[in-house]
Amino acid sequence: MNTELFNAKTQKENGTALAGRVIRSGGLVVFPTETVYGLGANGLDGEAVSRIFEAKGRPSDNPLILHIAKKSDVKPLWKHIPDKARLLMDAFWPGPLTLVYLKSPSVPNEVTAGLDTVAVRMPEHKTALALIRAAGVPIAAPSANLSGKPSPTCVRHVIEDMDGRVDIIIDGGDCSIGVESTVLSLVGEPTILRPGGITKEMLEGVIGSVRVANAVLNPLSENEQAASPGMKYRHYAPDCEVAVALGSPKAAAGIINREYQKAEAEGKSCKIFATQQTKNYYNGKKYVIIGDRDMPATLLAALFGALREESEGTDLILAEGIPESGEGLAYMNRLLRASGFKVIKY
Ligand code: AMP
Ligand code: MG
Repeated sequence: MNTELFNAKTQKENGTALAGRVIRSGGLVVFPTETVYGLGANGLDGEAVSRIFEAKGRPSDNPLILHIAKKSDVKPLWKHIPDKARLLMDAFWPGPLTLVYLKSPSVPNEVTAGLDTVAVRMPEHKTALALIRAAGVPIAAPSANLSGKPSPTCVRHVIEDMDGRVDIIIDGGDCSIGVESTVLSLVGEPTILRPGGITKEMLEGVIGSVRVANAVLNPLSENEQAASPGMKYRHYAPDCEVAVALGSPKAAAGIINREYQKAEAEGKSCKIFATQQTKNYYNGKKYVIIGDRDMPATLLAALFGALREESEGTDLILAEGIPESGEGLAYMNRLLRASGFKVIKY
């Protein structure tokens, strides 16, 4: 397949109109959002949606998110709108929050992987909204990476994975949040299935107590697989081994220095994922500063790019764990999954 590349700034009008027509006629378009790049198709056309799974090599039992351009567009997709959803939509849409609720019959089974629920989000990114409007249908989209790889947060990483597999790629520059949306289920007790830029604390400020699915920080137990199909797959895996050091910044740095020396002695090449606050622990070693511990959003924004770029020519990435509050929960979720839950304690 010949993939066309458009720039969202310089080719705004033509690019969006054409991409909208491509979506409506069953094609695939990669588009920028504030979270990560999405791989979109007409969300009401089951056949078009199956092409997403082919392009990504995604297992067909992992459902997709429907992206809409205005709040009221959720109405035909859900059985009805629960009160808590209304409150959350008013507080966080447009934005990086996906809400899961009982689906209406108009949503094809290809989108939901046969579940009786559907995930819906209204993104904030102007190009994403313009594309959904131009298409005139909800756009089904997962992240625009090959299945298993870290999600793309810049167009270079999209091209690496998707060139030749989709009709159009829209270049919208870097994604500001850098990890996928928070996924919250509103079936039964509100439960975070996947943490993201909208934190547990922010959600609780609007609707009260929110659970975090066990699988967010732990390998998935069998009885959880049905509720959160995406979690059972190895995710965000870069091309090298990743290990996470837990504990205080000083303790984590101690573990990392020890493991670094051990690995180098075995002839492995290592890289350390450090923070502003800990870089001085690693003098003379190969490290990158991912961000600032006091602003975990900076760590989130840089993680996926760093996993892709720093894994090249590296055998082992040693990364510091951080506290799981605020955006720290999403950071630890992605990092632990990227490592295949390889945790080193003292
Ligand atoms: P991606 O953004 O590429 O990770 O793909 C969409 C994510 O949303 C996956 O992690 C899915 O498991 C999750 N998801 C989509 N629909 C549902 C649903 N109906 N119930 C639970 N999770 C869902
Ligand atoms: Mg994904």
